[in-house]
Amino acid sequence: MVSGRTVLVTGGARGIGKGIAQAFLEAGERVVIADLGGGEDWNYALGSSAQMAEAVADLSPLGEVDAVPLDVTDAEACSAAVAFTRERFGGIDVLVNNAGVVDSGPVESFPVESWDRIFDVNVKGIYLMTQAALPALRESNDAAVVNTASVAGKRGSRNMSAYCASKFAVVGFTQSLAQEFAPDGIRVNALCPGIVGTAMWHDHLMANQGEEAFETRMAELIPLGRPQTAADMGQAAVYLASARNVSGIALAVAGGLEMH
Ligand code: NAD
Repeated sequence: MVSGRTVLVTGGARGIGKGIAQAFLEAGERVVIADLGGGEDWNYALGSSAQMAEAVADLSPLGEVDAVPLDVTDAEACSAAVAFTRERFGGIDVLVNNAGVVDSGPVESFPVESWDRIFDVNVKGIYLMTQAALPALRESNDAAVVNTASVAGKRGSRNMSAYCASKFAVVGFTQSLAQEFAPDGIRVNALCPGIVGTAMWHDHLMANQGEEAFETRMAELIPLGRPQTAADMGQAAVYLASARNVSGIALAVAGGLEMH
């Protein structure tokens, strides 16, 4: 595999995105992390410029890495993140659309504001970022897009209707782009994480239940006996961005929890 590509990772300040950024750096690529600047109102704290700075400090021993503030729901901010990356590293070869938010609850009382925000970030955000990055991707001779979907994009779950619907949309969008961009040689795939102990779980889905309860529950639930890690996702994202004849797939990295 020829290394030295430039990778833009949205939602890269922490969690799965940071693990993906780390894996690309370890593979010899350059990385720009793009995430929220802080202060956004949601049911758990989202990323911030402080977390971005921390990620850059943690990862810079591994290679060339920089960061740019980005709200993926804002088309102008998407264009600015693309311009920053091109200026900093001369182009974009790999776009990792990883930013996402979760909320849960019965559809009967689910707030329309939460529905809209989930679709704005998880679905529209990928469309806006992809549209902004497409001219740069077309200039690369080894271009790929990796969209972070979820096992929730393969199977619905009680009280997770908005999130699951958004992730099914990511898989559909990925398949469509894979066909649309194939003539340009741009591969497009979805990564479907199983369960990774990030803010989504510890600050929302299993809030206040502690690391031990999380590990115990996942050990029971997941056939391979442990939750997934950000490093597991990084390994899979690098594979999806590097496999020269793989496009349009939605790869579950879920310890056997999801086999479809
Ligand atoms: P996380 O909350 O730690 O990371 C998500 C990142 O996205 C945060 O840094 C957040 O600031 C950023 N983000 C949110 N809205 C944004 C916006 N409008 N613009 C730019 N950035 C924004 O959670 P995570 O688990 O690392 O999630 C990463 C991705 O993985 C998400 O797409 C999520 O849906 C998906 N996922 C997570 C799991 C899991 O078990 N944790 C499982 C399947 C899929």
